[in-house]
Amino acid sequence: MSILVVGSVAFDAIQTPFGKIDRCLGGSATYFSVAASFFTEVDLVAVVGDDFSDDDLAIFRGRNINLDGLQRVAGAKTFFWSGEYGFDLNVAKTRDTQLNVFADFKPQLSEKHRNTDVLFLANIQPDLQLEVLRQCRRPRVVALDTMNLWIATAKESLTRILREVDLVVINEAEVRQYTEEANLIKGARQILALGPRTLVVKRGEYGVMMITPDAVFAAPAYPLEAVFDPTGAGDTFAGGFLGYLASRADVTDRDLRRAIVFGSVLASFTVEKFSLDRLREITLNDVYERYQEFRKLTHFEDHE
Ligand code: AMP
Repeated sequence: MSILVVGSVAFDAIQTPFGKIDRCLGGSATYFSVAASFFTEVDLVAVVGDDFSDDDLAIFRGRNINLDGLQRVAGAKTFFWSGEYGFDLNVAKTRDTQLNVFADFKPQLSEKHRNTDVLFLANIQPDLQLEVLRQCRRPRVVALDTMNLWIATAKESLTRILREVDLVVINEAEVRQYTEEANLIKGARQILALGPRTLVVKRGEYGVMMITPDAVFAAPAYPLEAVFDPTGAGDTFAGGFLGYLASRADVTDRDLRRAIVFGSVLASFTVEKFSLDRLREITLNDVYERYQEFRKLTHFEDHE
């Protein structure tokens, strides 16, 4: 099945306890599309400025990523985000967000885009997410990610779109912020009550919890000794997760669990280097190898 993603393609400035970079490639849709393209074909809908060079575009080339929906606007600047992490790498502190080209972006989906099977609304202003959803005909699965900025500044719009999606990928802290509920499971149930069938809660180095009205599944994060830069881990997870699901004919409960592990495996590569530097050098074989390691990590036998 095909996946369409709308979200940010960006330049980031990042500081972690281990290093600093003033400008590198980033963006929610960038990480998502590269990760998902390991498993399926991706259509990317986003906008960049004319400061986005052919070299920057190289990340998408030679992959299963269709760029017909990537607009380049002359005389404008690409979305810019600057973030900082302390020793607790689970918490990103935003220093600056410049929407630039995204401030007046009006996505126009092509006929092919409108017929997508899977739609991923990656982190971007919720009204923009809604605009893309409205143009799609009948996706089989609509999934959404968001962030603290939009919960704080556009909560009504966010709630409107949460009512229309099947699956939500969200950080633990964002569940608490959105629901004002300290208990994660109770908070998750509040979001499910709005309409989504599945909630996937990202818990940084502690892994992922998938919550549906009748089940909970938890997976740890792959235990890395050297986490360098967590930026993009969430979007990479979402790309691996949905990309794998889209590559399956029928999605069973087992597929959902495997998808969680593939998402976690891909995210574990992203955090090893700045930007998409690690993601761009790995192969599907590396992904499968780490997937097997992950199986060993989480396997246990019942009593005879
Ligand atoms: P994450 O996977 O949550 O670490 O997302 C990191 C990416 O999100 C960065 O590469 C940023 O460019 C992008 N980002 C940060 N803030 C925003 C925002 N407000 N809207 C869209 N994308 C953002």
